[in-house]
Parts: sequence; structure tokens; C-alpha cells
Amino acid sequence: MTAFALDAALAERREQSLYRQRLLVDGPQEPELMVDGQCCLAFCSNDYLGLANHPDVINAFKKATDIYGVGGGASHLIVGHSRAHHQLEEELAEFTGRSRVLLFSTGYMANLGVISALLGISDAVFQDRLNHASLLDAGRLSGARFQRYLHADCENLEQRLMRSTAHRKLVVTDGVFSMDGDIAPLRELSKLARSHDAWLMVDDAHGFGCLGNEGRGCADYFDLSQDDLPVLMGTLGKAFGTAGAFVAGSEALIETLVQFARTYIYTTAMPPAIAEATRVSLNIVRKESWRREHLTTLIQRFRSGCETLGIRLMPSSTPIQPIDVGSADRALEMSRALADNGILVTAIRPPTVPQGSARLRVTFSAAHTPEQVDRLLTTLEEVVRKVPEVEV
Ligand code: PMP
Repeated sequence: MTAFALDAALAERREQSLYRQRLLVDGPQEPELMVDGQCCLAFCSNDYLGLANHPDVINAFKKATDIYGVGGGASHLIVGHSRAHHQLEEELAEFTGRSRVLLFSTGYMANLGVISALLGISDAVFQDRLNHASLLDAGRLSGARFQRYLHADCENLEQRLMRSTAHRKLVVTDGVFSMDGDIAPLRELSKLARSHDAWLMVDDAHGFGCLGNEGRGCADYFDLSQDDLPVLMGTLGKAFGTAGAFVAGSEALIETLVQFARTYIYTTAMPPAIAEATRVSLNIVRKESWRREHLTTLIQRFRSGCETLGIRLMPSSTPIQPIDVGSADRALEMSRALADNGILVTAIRPPTVPQGSARLRVTFSAAHTPEQVDRLLTTLEEVVRKVPEVEV
């Protein structure tokens, strides 16, 4: 049984302070969350605009279950493609200014599906080294030559592109980096990709709904057309408050995915009621710009509070505001100390982030109040004093 030495691997994970544990949540996603039977103030969800528990979105979901039932029933290419999915795809295409959109059941599956449908062994994929795990996994799955360039470093990418003799070249980046909160230099990346006959793919999971005019995301923020950014991916489980994901691009791209993306073809369609609920979310995202404005005010309040307290933040203007902590032990200890004071902030440790760069990942939602941000700052001040910094 030594081949399956599971206990040894689990023990090693514990010893390295890298053991992960789930919390048990009762009730909806809100800043005041019932966790393990206790009410706490959470700064760790991706519900950036506070739509996961919005009454209009909930009602749309309920009404749609009367029409469509609950389950997706089949894959899109059998009989799972409902009018609700179809309408959402058309509305997202109009919103993103792309020719066509295709829905996927999750962002993880969208990334696996796209990259493995577009690339094979004679191709190359160039990824920012801090890209989301699903993109990195997709690169490996595709069989293409897989290279990781230095974070947001266009020169490093250019050297790699220049040396490449691959047939198809795909440059892939997060729009907003999920663990750092910074925004990728998309204008430069787009120019570089075009000048090397490569395509650019952006995973806008954390920018879609938050950045750009009416929340249209990174592409709008940098004013990038479909030619500048041929493969745009966004998720619906974060700012949009529902679930699932989409890919937006040309007619030929979307038809290629319908024909070749295995994670689209061989899986059950998302429940149609989710698509109907997302149509209502989309309307709120567009119209209620106060949500983005409020979010910006909260972020500024937090950043200036941290500056006063001498708390080291990473350079980010998005709702992802990581506190640079260093060691995994310290991140865990600080996260526990915050929890003892009723505040929930996740400790992010390797292998999710590089060794020695463990952090507390603070995220904000338009559902937070300025008073809640102040409570976080006051508690952080105490915790930072109690858990001293150590050399890593
Ligand atoms: N891309 C990024 C950048 C993400 O942060 C996530 C989710 N954390 C995903 C993709 C996966 O999306 P989903 O949760 O819909 O599978």
C-alpha cells in the first residue's frame, strides 16, 4: 500500500502550514455571514457588486424554475440549449461588443475548453506566471509547447515570442490577477501579440462587472476591440452573483468551440434558471453604476487606513486587496487572530502563490459599508501588533 501513502502526504501538508480546511456556511452570501454557527464579518467573497443575494436576481431565478424546472437536463448539443441560454448569450455579445458568445458551466471549464480546442502539439502557449490555475492546467492539457513569462513583463514575453517557431501562438493572461489584484498591461500585450502573429486571450473573471464603462470589463477599460483581443473569457459567479462563464469572440472562434471544446460538448448545460437570473444581473450591472462607485470608495478608505497603520498592501486598485505577509505561518496566524475577533479574511499560501509571498487576501463588495471597513482596520491594527513579522 506504500504507493498510496496518503497519510504521509497529508501530514506533510499540515507540517508546512499548507493544510486547507472548509468552513460551513449557513444562509446567503452577505458581508455578515453565518460560518460554523457564528456570525462573522467576511472580506473574502467574490460577490463584488453584492448581487449574489439581490431580490430581483432571486425572483428571476424562482420564476424561471416555473418555466424551465431546475436541471439543465442535457448538454447544449443534445437538448440542453434553452431559450434562456440563447438570450443571455446574445445579450452578453452585445454588452461585450463581440460577434458572438458561448456559455460554459464554469470558468474552469471554459478555460480548459478554449485552450485545448485552439491548440495542439505544433502550437505554443505563453502564460503570465501568475495566471489562474485553470489557465495553467489548460495549457498543459492542450499539449502545446507551454511557456510562462515573468509577471506582466512584456519584454520577457517578447523574447519568447521572437524565438518561437510554433504554428499557432496564444498569449494568455488574467485581466485582473486573482491573488494580487493588479491589472494586466493589456494594451501592450495586445500590440505584442499582434506584431508576432499571435492571439491574445484574457480571463476577465475578476474584472468583468467591475471595470470599464457599465462594468464591461478589462476589454472596455483598455478599449480593446475583438481584433485586439480575439479571445475574451469572463465568469458569472463573481461580480454577476450567479454561476457559470462565457467566451466572447468572432463567429469562427465560437463555432470552433461548439465543435471542438470538449468541456462544452461533454457536460450538462448550466440550469436555465441561472441564465435567466444572470440576465437580470446583467441589467443591474449596467444600470447601477453606484455599486462600482461605492466599491471604489471602500477600497480607497481601506488603502488609506492601511497606509496610516503602516500595513503593507500590494499595488492594486481593484476589489482584491492583498496584505503582504510573507510566511505561510504568519498568514495563517493572522487569519486565525482576525477570526477570533469575528472577521473572516483568507490566508493564501503556496502553492497558490509563490513561496515566501503568503498573504491575507482581503476582498471588498458593494454590499460592505464604510463602518465595516473601519472595523476591519481597527481589528487589523490589533492583529498586526500581536503577530510580529518574521524573516522568511
Ligand atoms: N479564472 C480566474 C481568474 C478565477 O479566479 C476563477 C475562479 N476563482 C476561475 C477562472 C474559475 O471560474 P469558476 O469559479 O467559474 O470555475
